[in-house]
Amino acid sequence: MPQTPPKFVILDRDGVINLDSDHFIKTPDEWIPIAGSLEAIASLNQAGYRVVVASNQSGIGRGLFEMSALNAMHEKMYKALANLGGRVDAIFFCPHTAADGCDCRKPKSGLLEQASERFGIELKDVPIVGDSLRDLEAGVALGCSPHLVLTGKGTRTLQKGGLPAGTRVHDDLRAFARWLTRGDRAPGTAAS
Ligand SMILES: [Mg+2]
Ligand SMILES: [Zn+2]
Repeated sequence: MPQTPPKFVILDRDGVINLDSDHFIKTPDEWIPIAGSLEAIASLNQAGYRVVVASNQSGIGRGLFEMSALNAMHEKMYKALANLGGRVDAIFFCPHTAADGCDCRKPKSGLLEQASERFGIELKDVPIVGDSLRDLEAGVALGCSPHLVLTGKGTRTLQKGGLPAGTRVHDDLRAFARWLTRGDRAPGTAAS
């Protein structure tokens, strides 16, 4: 019998849940949700999906902001989500810079391995949603199914090409959530 993947979704943060900035998101005030993204997470929860976040946060390693600021941003996200009946089960982040040579900075898969261990699940066919190629690469290495959203850097990422085989493209997180929860596999375009 074919295994159905666990009802689990992994999201990148900046450019997927909240607006991105080339100057980093450094304070709770700069953390602004993309329209419909929090509602999308709540709708995934209502459909029985657990949602976790895996995010590169090299601004910490660069000394642009402190852990306390990151925690405050995430408090803001948790509260806004709770107001909508939504929940993120965990946030895994990499505080390092590329120069640190860590195992967790995407496109490495360390953050996703942490999620897999924490929740005791295999990530095969679990959707990973990102706006950058490295998000998708980190997931594909562990057998996740790649989903690109066109928010944040997504349009640029699509134009650059070279996406993993089978990548599905959605306008935004709301469109992804609709696609997943409806079980409607027709919309969205697959990139090659
Ligand atoms: Mg991003
Ligand atoms: Zn790291």
